[in-house]
Amino acid sequence: MRKKIVAGNWKMNKLQADAKSLASEVVNMAGAEVSSDVKLILCTPAIHLDAVNKLAESSAVSVGAQNCHSKESGAYTGEISASMLADLGIGYVILGHSERREYFHETNAELTEKVNISLKNGITPLFCCGETLPQREKGIHFDFVKQQLTESLFHLSEEDFKKVVIAYEPIWAIGTGVTASSAQAQEMHKEIRNHLASKYGQSVADSISILYGGSCKPDNAQELFACPDVDGGLIGGASLKSRDFIDIAKSF
Ligand code: PEP
Repeated sequence: MRKKIVAGNWKMNKLQADAKSLASEVVNMAGAEVSSDVKLILCTPAIHLDAVNKLAESSAVSVGAQNCHSKESGAYTGEISASMLADLGIGYVILGHSERREYFHETNAELTEKVNISLKNGITPLFCCGETLPQREKGIHFDFVKQQLTESLFHLSEEDFKKVVIAYEPIWAIGTGVTASSAQAQEMHKEIRNHLASKYGQSVADSISILYGGSCKPDNAQELFACPDVDGGLIGGASLKSRDFIDIAKSF
């Protein structure tokens, strides 16, 4: 049975007081309303990680970062290491989000290092992949996404690979209000799972949670999560409202 996961990516939003209120609301509502077989993760700005982690401490809600540096420590002004996250008790990190690939020029090779250092520190990568609209229109979207996965993940041992969560986020659907149809999501998720199986075998591929991200909201989550290869969502905008985030988590 694969883990069902709904992760919120708060991006660069919320000042301290609002971050704490949102986290408390999610923690309280999750305890009362969300089935215990759905894992909720709040990926907050780094500056709020410790406070949110303390608020979530005695709940089933986990906390994740949105990035980490590829090196263990050193002269990298402004950066945060995986070991610093682990030291705070943070269990997850989003890696390879398309915004980081675009604005911070993260490459598949650099992401390989980030994946390695996260796993070494006991942190689960939520590894993002996804194509642009022109790539989809040219019909190269499957190959592009498979290449992202091959180049950043396929060096892992089976034991390490099984710890990774994948998020398919078509870039044209992120923050645009345009959602991939459930047929498009299922088609890509199935293609991803087949690709994982070609490297690690079917039973490993069947154990990996593959989340959908891109304008997922309470009114479309149910249809997306009903797809056999969609195991949950990585939620941007809708994770900033506790009611919406919890309603998405109740959509399985
Ligand atoms: C995201 O950025 O990970 C995302 C899915 O954003 P949104 O839900 O706002 O499209």
